Amino acid sequence: MRATNAVRTVQTVSAVRAAIGEWRAAGQKIAFAPTMGNLHAGHLSLAKLAAEVAPRVVMSIFVNPTQFGPSEDFAVYPRTLAEDAELIAAAGHVDLLFVPHLAEIYPFGIEHAVRVQLPPLAAELCGASRPGHFDGVGAVVCRLVNIVTPDVLVLGQKDYQQFVLMQRMIADLRMPVELRMGPTLREPDGLAMSSRNRYLDTSQRRQAPALHGALARVCERLRGASIDFARLTAEARAELERAGLRPDYVEIRRLVDLAAATADPGERRVVLGAAWLGRTRLIDNLFV
Ligand code: AMP
Repeated sequence: MRATNAVRTVQTVSAVRAAIGEWRAAGQKIAFAPTMGNLHAGHLSLAKLAAEVAPRVVMSIFVNPTQFGPSEDFAVYPRTLAEDAELIAAAGHVDLLFVPHLAEIYPFGIEHAVRVQLPPLAAELCGASRPGHFDGVGAVVCRLVNIVTPDVLVLGQKDYQQFVLMQRMIADLRMPVELRMGPTLREPDGLAMSSRNRYLDTSQRRQAPALHGALARVCERLRGASIDFARLTAEARAELERAGLRPDYVEIRRLVDLAAATADPGERRVVLGAAWLGRTRLIDNLFV
């Protein structure tokens, strides 16, 4: 534990490259966990996983404008760098914290930035209500991986569609990095930890675990060999509505690639859902 030490924090690409160069010269592997900050225990669990797979761990905090839609929460997204740095230092897994300014990531400006266009899956599930979101994620992950050049990239199951799309991008662009997934950390009542949970007022916070509950019910029924997918997801949406949430989607998909689930009993599946609580959009997923 390096609880009392401040975490080494850098803001420029050249400073990251200098640190990475030293570690590479010493033959040390590097694992990297990108975040948008406002850290919680879920983020720290990714840092811990990173430290288990490589002796050097880099974490980034960058609220990436290109993954937010024009009417989304980019301007108000919680920016809590001082607290984040303290949490990281106390947890003790991170060797380098990269907090770039916009111009380090998009040196030619956003309008003139090279774009990434992900495959059609990016327009489904969360992509259906957030057009361009995953292309923005691809754009920033591509850049961050090129800057940090990690051996291992660590992403969370919480954003499983993002994980699958980044897996595809890495394979398709032949990016020389291994991908690892960290499990979703939850509050005691089942709500998946998320920086956006802090938008919830007291009564919304009480309603929010209904998303996890509804997905868990679908999982149980699938384990009980039900394959009436349409009925299960319709029931889950009704359950969300009864709990006061506005469902965006509930879907049962094939785990490996998020293609439509089939009746094949050997198939591994995932149940994914998104729902609105007031102006806050919650997402979650469970592997069956
Ligand atoms: P974000 O800061 O929300 O962009 O998330 C940064 C990384 O943390 C992503 O790889 C997320 O999937 C992951 N993450 C977010 N929430 C959780 C959670 N509750 N448990 C584990 N990982 C998470």
